[in-house]
Amino acid sequence: MSDCLFCKIAQKEIPSEIIYEDELIVAFKDINPVAPVHILLIPKKHLISVNNIMEEDEAVIGRIFSVAKELAHQFGIAESGYRVVTNTGTDGGQVIGHLHFHILGGKALRSELG
Ligand code: AMP
Ligand code: ZN
Repeated sequence: MSDCLFCKIAQKEIPSEIIYEDELIVAFKDINPVAPVHILLIPKKHLISVNNIMEEDEAVIGRIFSVAKELAHQFGIAESGYRVVTNTGTDGGQVIGHLHFHILGGKALRSELG
């Protein structure tokens, strides 16, 4: 989508610290990290949120989690623990309208489950 920030990051129209890329997804460092490790994983395809995931997108969602695991090892948080989070819609705290998964780790995270 032409006016989407994360589409522009995926297409390298806006600079970001990309740490992984393949044909389906891109991972880059969050510009405003809230933990020592804060990485965002996005599908290259413009999906707004979890609400818009279709059966045809199952491969990309699977890829996001298998790469999240690899990056957790690469960034040294696999053993200490981490969180993979996706915010959905207004009450979910979603600010950017392109599906993204946060990897957060490197410190003890408070539970935010309600
Ligand atoms: P959310 O609240 O789940 O929509 O999270 C959006 C995330 O995108 C926040 O953690 C922001 O810090 C991050 N963000 C916004 N703009 C950029 C950017 N240009 N590069 C990297 N991360 C960004
Ligand atoms: Zn987009």
